[in-house]
Amino acid sequence: MVQTLEQKIADRLNVRHCVAMCNGTIALEIAIRALGLAGEVIVPSWTFVATAHALYWQGITPVFADIDPATHNLDPVSVRKMITPRTSGIIGVHLWGRAAPVDALSEIAAEHGLKLMFDAAHAFGSSHRGHSIGRFGACEVFSFHATKAFNTMEGGAVTTNDDELAETMRLMRNFGFRGYDNVIHPGTNGKMIEVCAAMGLTNLDNFDAIVQGNMRNHAAYCRALAGIPGIRVLDYDPAESNSHHYIVLEVGPDCPVSRDAIINALHAENILARKYFWPGSHQMQPYRDLFPHAGLMLPYTCAVAEQVVVLPNGISIHSEQIDIIASLMAFIVNSAIVGD
Ligand SMILES: *Cc1c(COP(=O)(O)O)cnc(C)c1O
Repeated sequence: MVQTLEQKIADRLNVRHCVAMCNGTIALEIAIRALGLAGEVIVPSWTFVATAHALYWQGITPVFADIDPATHNLDPVSVRKMITPRTSGIIGVHLWGRAAPVDALSEIAAEHGLKLMFDAAHAFGSSHRGHSIGRFGACEVFSFHATKAFNTMEGGAVTTNDDELAETMRLMRNFGFRGYDNVIHPGTNGKMIEVCAAMGLTNLDNFDAIVQGNMRNHAAYCRALAGIPGIRVLDYDPAESNSHHYIVLEVGPDCPVSRDAIINALHAENILARKYFWPGSHQMQPYRDLFPHAGLMLPYTCAVAEQVVVLPNGISIHSEQIDIIASLMAFIVNSAIVGD
């Protein structure tokens, strides 16, 4: 079942190799090691902390670059500023499933002789210039955790068009075994199990329907939240495909209520809104103590981190729930205006 899932994903993403793993974090670690990254690697701070941890765990220093506030993706100008003689690579993240600036990052990597890979944990079902995410950079890393649009309960995969890199990663995920008794490489246990692959095959059959539902929900949220002062729903790029899994709001400075007050009110009503990825990886340990001034180079990351609310989405969310959430948000904001 793992082999069938790998083949189906490779076919779907139009990439030569899909190497399935036990989760996205181990898949990141194995990809980083197989690529030979060392020294410093440039990553966004505005991502799930696993992107940085996968480097630090292996003795590599994550160096945080800032984002473009319009897309929440890495800003190539900031990436250039963070390059030092110790830099060996860049890990772009396709945040909220929107493609990172693939072309600009490829240019920077080529210019400076850096390796480029992508954390595509949010980007199953996304495209860049009409091509499925999965083929860009040296490799791309997916997470199939239960919280992601496509899930295998726990799971992940690395996709690549590089035959040699794929072979190295296949060895690394299974202790370096080639055949029963022949260990030819250092390795770890990164294997996906059959039960997870079975879950993946079932979900893959339903993925297009899941995306349709997410798109309907995204449109319903946009309609229902329109007109609430200071609340903006982050756009998806209409020219590219996306799973529409993330409903990302920005609570602007013109909103009469703070982001945290909105989150607290939603939580009080059992609505699991999240502040992803507050306060930014650079403010999480060990990075906060190691790089106490990193925030000085990350003005947009710091600003966005104070504004974001991610609302529930997925197959168990329907228009009735969306209307309830939106009227609650309107109530929270409008009561503050009346209170003035
Ligand atoms: C979920 C996620 C990961 C980690 O994947 P797991 O499968 O949970 O280990 C890595 N990076 C990003 C951006 C993620 O959202």
